[in-house]
Amino acid sequence: MDVKAYRVKPGARVDLQKWDPDDKRFFDGNKEEGRAALPALNRRLEALQELLWAEEKHKVLVVLQGMDTSGKDGTIRHVFEGVNPQGVKVASFKVPTPEELAHDYLWRIHKQTPGKGEMVIFNRSHYEDVLVVRVHNFVPPAVWGRRYEQINAFERQLAEEGTTILKFFLHISKDEQKQRLQDRLDDREKRWKFSTGDLAERKLWDDYTAAYTAVLEQTSTEHAPWYIVPANRKWYRDLVISHAIIGALEGLDMRYPECEPGLDDIVIE
Ligand code: AMP
Ligand code: MG
Repeated sequence: MDVKAYRVKPGARVDLQKWDPDDKRFFDGNKEEGRAALPALNRRLEALQELLWAEEKHKVLVVLQGMDTSGKDGTIRHVFEGVNPQGVKVASFKVPTPEELAHDYLWRIHKQTPGKGEMVIFNRSHYEDVLVVRVHNFVPPAVWGRRYEQINAFERQLAEEGTTILKFFLHISKDEQKQRLQDRLDDREKRWKFSTGDLAERKLWDDYTAAYTAVLEQTSTEHAPWYIVPANRKWYRDLVISHAIIGALEGLDMRYPECEPGLDDIVIE
């Protein structure tokens, strides 16, 4: 799968109207076939994560962003199925606590970044500080306006210190969000996920689109690229993200650590 096609080139203009959330051009098959292709990728990711943990050299950070109902939780469930919970961590960023608000916006983020051998998945991230914060003007434009550069500098530092960073924008259409919100209302077991606050945010769809566009245009870098993932089809979304992560891990050229010498001659009595 040519996941590079979904990568935002550093400095490129982004018009989200031109990125089709229904796109599935790199998978020749239907939904059932797409779903059936995932387990093999899960096993491949599992093996690579085992190697990452064993080698204890690289750090991997996966950032998931997207509108409400875009599938951040579902991606975590499906793409990372089978990885060893020892060595993989999910960090979900909610409305900041008073303690978090008393610090700079990257304080709570930096604490959750991966250590050597670890993979951390950000379910929302520091990007909320130029998304929801920008849309609602929780801080003045002059303050959020300088955050793009700060974020690039922060991510560059993480990358230079050995972190592989992959950022995924889960791109759904406004119609698809309507359907998913309706599903949450209709299904008793999904209702807990429904928040009337999501309806207020939905009214701000265009503002969020503008805020996401600024993020994609200003913070996709060589060391921390954004991928615009067509996410109307959950199965295709999972395949794209799996392939992108697997490709990045394969590029690290990881090796199992050297064993002690002379192990071949050992006889255990
Ligand atoms: P959920 O991901 O559905 O659990 O919702 C988490 C909520 O926290 C979303 O409405 C986010 O917009 C909000 N949130 C996350 N980070 C921030 C932030 N830095 N400032 C304000 N709200 C935030
Ligand atoms: Mg929510």
